[in-house]
Amino acid sequence: MERHYSIAIDGPAASGKSTAAKGVSKILGFLYIDTGAMYRAFTLYMIEQGKDPKKEEDALALLPAFRMNEDSRGHVYLFDRDVTERVRERDVSALVSYACAYKAVRERMVEIQRELAKRTSVVMDGRDIGTVVLPNADLKIYQVASVKARAERRYLENQRKGIACSLAEIEADIEKRDYIDSHREHSPLTKAKDAILLDTSDMTIEEEIETIVSLFRKKVGESWKDTEQSR
Ligand code: C5P
Repeated sequence: MERHYSIAIDGPAASGKSTAAKGVSKILGFLYIDTGAMYRAFTLYMIEQGKDPKKEEDALALLPAFRMNEDSRGHVYLFDRDVTERVRERDVSALVSYACAYKAVRERMVEIQRELAKRTSVVMDGRDIGTVVLPNADLKIYQVASVKARAERRYLENQRKGIACSLAEIEADIEKRDYIDSHREHSPLTKAKDAILLDTSDMTIEEEIETIVSLFRKKVGESWKDTEQSR
């Protein structure tokens, strides 16, 4: 059977995980899986159904019917609707940390994520990938950056996408999400013991990608070369 590889990239909100993960997956030919998008899609579903993500009973009531998908281009679908851009908007960002904190919601998402990683080599980003979802990942990165650097990046990204926002609002959102994500009861954001800490505050995206790819090549060494050559 063909050997599948996995790279786990965890870290706080807007630390550049998804941009780095996408770049790394392109170079290595792995599937990129954005786990935050799954929690965001569920949060959007709750909002659209008139439910309150701060209420566990509301989340549990909707969970059985919830269906989402991600394609190889990184697009996110709620049922059959493309919600890739919609899930990045402020109402979803402000509530996602509540909806994703419930045990049953996390169990359901982790199940989907592990299923995806069984089928192919993946780069997965999130908060609990190295600690919970893929504890045996070939490479674990814990990516951090200062709140200022993260807010500036997210601000520019939103501007490019035409999403209205202010820098101060983004900074406040990021700080609030960091707090909730790292203080929740189930799978809080924390660095896996065997994860490599990568501070990207002063790195360009190209440097981040290069660093992760070379760490991966070093880590898996000969077994990776064998697979490459047998293609
Ligand atoms: O990565 P992103 O910022 O899109 O994630 C949105 C939210 O989803 C995070 O703030 C976090 O609350 C939650 N999340 C999570 N576990 C993951 C990925 C995201 O709890 N693996």
